[in-house]
Order: sequence, then structure tokens, then C-alpha cells
Amino acid sequence: MSEPSEFQPGRPVVLRGGTVLPMDDGRQVLTRTDVLVIDDRIAAVGPDLEVPEGTAEIDATDGIVMPGMIDTHRHMWQTAMRGYGADWTLTQYFVWYYLEHGKLFRPEDVHAGNVLAAIEAIDAGATTVVDWSHGLRTVDHADAAADALQSVPGRFVLAYGNIQQPPAEWTAAPEFRDFVRRRITGDDMLGFQLAFDVLGDPAFPEKPAFEVARELGVAVTTHAGVWGATSDDGIKLMHDHGFMTPETVYVHAASLSADSYHRIAATGGSISVSTESEQSAGQGYPPTWAIREHGIPVSLSMDTSVWWSGDLFSAMRTTLGADRSREHLRAQAEGDTVTHCSLRSDQVVDWATRGGARALGRDHDLGGIEAGKKADLVLIKNDHSPVSFPLLHPFGHVAFQAQRGDVHTVIVNGRVVKHRHRLIGIDLAAARREVERTVDHLRSTMGEEAWAKGMNPDIPATKILDNPYTYTDYRSEATHSQ
Ligand SMILES: [Zn+2]
Repeated sequence: MSEPSEFQPGRPVVLRGGTVLPMDDGRQVLTRTDVLVIDDRIAAVGPDLEVPEGTAEIDATDGIVMPGMIDTHRHMWQTAMRGYGADWTLTQYFVWYYLEHGKLFRPEDVHAGNVLAAIEAIDAGATTVVDWSHGLRTVDHADAAADALQSVPGRFVLAYGNIQQPPAEWTAAPEFRDFVRRRITGDDMLGFQLAFDVLGDPAFPEKPAFEVARELGVAVTTHAGVWGATSDDGIKLMHDHGFMTPETVYVHAASLSADSYHRIAATGGSISVSTESEQSAGQGYPPTWAIREHGIPVSLSMDTSVWWSGDLFSAMRTTLGADRSREHLRAQAEGDTVTHCSLRSDQVVDWATRGGARALGRDHDLGGIEAGKKADLVLIKNDHSPVSFPLLHPFGHVAFQAQRGDVHTVIVNGRVVKHRHRLIGIDLAAARREVERTVDHLRSTMGEEAWAKGMNPDIPATKILDNPYTYTDYRSEATHSQ
């Protein structure tokens, strides 16, 4: 039997006999293939590998071995209120966030949300997540966010943000500089970005924040093309001032003109698509259809668990669905028929892995399965599930058949953090207690009425159309004829 103690630090691990998706340019599928992990790296990939004595063996037969998935935009602190906003649009979100609950989050509440989101991520095979942390009202909040990320054995990027203050202000604060000096020390498991939006004011007040990012040598991630919030104006300001760079990540980019997409493409940036979010919040139609036409690199993200799920299987599935449904809708509006889908399952698996690595400037060592790369790996295998076979189309299986419950083993930086569907070395009970305290705090501070109202926005009146037909069938006709 495999016990957690089987995976001691430093002990090599081999995944035996799986269907391996290396996520290379040729989109190879390697059947009955082993992956050997030594220390934090993939040491070898191939059939019947010879392994060092004492290597821990994981049976990957009938399973899929893929690179750890990468989420390039998740507001992890908000997981403390998981599912609360299921019926929101952006309108309720902004009220909740700017005016209500968001302001009530104390450092310990950010910590609670981040810990739970981080555990949830590795459980679902998302081995790298960008924490788009725009609730850092004080440096104490930021320390709490970083503490949480470093307490869970995943790979995280803290995208530092503070929506309660203009970016030029908080990036200039001495305590922010001090935080960067203290906490961002080149640890491979905790990257750093600046997270702020460009609102389109012609005076470009965000300019000093971009200058700070440049000085620190870190990427900016920005919500761009969000209907009603950010627009082409912000893109144009960034471009005119020379702040559109290859490492810039544009989140959503769902309501931009072709001109903005051209600017993004020409400057080498990438777009983080959060389809589940765009479909219900209202940033604009999930934009992969437009991005594909402009040749802009794509990564996927889940945005926030205050509304949606936190796993990239959902991202892949909804992205395929949104892209294809638009393609059919557009063609049918012209009287045409789509006979061949443009977006394929292997492409969304690429976006969920290699796309994320590329967006983070880490495609040399993340997002693929190849000797020498970092050992961030996911084994999808569930011997108790009728959905696990037959395994005919591995990319399609990942995108449409698999789900987080099928994540059998997760390895991050060479460390086995989940095995046989069980997390290893994670205190879920402690995470639960922390989140319960946060929910109690928010709920009691808001009061029951506001709490319930926030969760249940008014439903617009629906007018049932007049119908020229009345319902009849053979039974009613039989009745009448008697
Ligand atoms: Zn967001």
C-alpha cells in the first residue's frame, strides 16, 4: 500500500506506464510511457525506464499523465466566500467588493481565502496559480497572502494589488517597497507581479505604477476589455507610453476592438481567458474566437470562486463550448453550416498548460513533460469511475470527460502532494476552521439582512410571450370526439 511516508523528500518517483501528453509542438501522445522524477526535475521520459534503486513507483496504467495546469488569474482571497455570488453580474460584484464585504476582509481573512484556494488548486491539478490579489489594503494583508501561499506546497505568483487605492499611490509607499524586499526573494515557488487596471483617464495616472513594475523587473497583469470598466482607451494609453511588453498579461480582453488586439499581438503580450467568468459576469463574449484571428497567445484562468469553480477542467470545457457555440451561431445567422470546428481539444489543453507557462515567461521549465523541466505533473486516473475508459482520445478525455475527482496524483516541484486521490501533508480541517471564522466575521459585521440580500440579487421580470397556439394532443381530441 502507498502511504504518504512513501514519498520522502529526495526519493525519486516514477509514474509507470501512463498515456503521457508532453505538450510539445507536435502534440504527441506517448502510450505506455514512464516519467521519472528526481529532485525537482523530470529526469527521463520513455518506455520501461531504468530507475535508481529505491525509487517510489506510481502505477499510471490506464491513466493520463499531463503537465501541471497553470491558472494565470485567480482572486484567491475571495474563495473564503465560495459560491456566495453564484447569481451575480459584475454589478453586484463591484458593490460587494468595493463597498461591502471586500472592505471588511482583515489580513486573517485574506489568509483564510488564500489557504483554501491554494489547497483547492493543487487538489485539482493546478500546480501554478497567479493570485490576482487586489484586496491588499495594507502590507499586513499582503504578508498574510504571502504566508498563506507559502504554507501550501503549490507554485504561486503573488500579483500584488490594492483596489482601494490608486496604483500610483500604493506602489510608491515605502512599506510596499519593504514588502518586496522582505518577501520576494527569488523563491521559485513564489513569483511576483503587479496587478492593477488602466481605467482610460487621458492623464494616464497609472503611469508611475508601470514605472515601478519596470524598475522591479516584474510583469503587470491587468483586467483589459471588461465591458463598462476598461476599454480600448486603456490599451492605447499603455501602448502610447511603451508599457505593452511581452510579459504583460491582459485578463479577459473580451470587449476590445481589432485595433487593441493588433497592439497586443504586436507587442507580444498574452491574454488570460476566464470563460466561465465572461459567460456570466458580463465582461464581453469569451474572446478566443477573436484572439485566434490575431495570433495572440492564450492562457486560461478561473477568476474567482466567489462565483465559479476553481478547476481548469471547467475552463477547458467552457472555452471549447463558448468558442464553438459562437462559431455555429454566426454561421447559422448567415444561413451557413459549420462542418468542422476551428477550436480543438488539444488546443485548450495546451492553453491550460503550456499557454500558462508562456504567459509567465516559464515555458523553458514549466508546462511540458520533457527531461530537464520542472516536475509539475498530474496523473488523471480513476479506476472506480465508469468515465475512465475507454481512453481513445486523450486530449478530448482531458477536456470533456475528466474532472477534479479524477486527479489521482499531483506532483509539484518534484514533491508528491496528492496521491490516490488524497492530499498529502495538508491540514484541511485547519483550513475549514479558518474560513469559518472569516465567514462568521463577515456575516456578523454585515448583518443577516445585508448578507442574504447580497447573495440573492433581484430577478428581472420575465414576460412570457403571447402564444398563438393552444396545447392539444390525441387525448384531448379523443375526449372532444366523445
Ligand atoms: Zn479578475
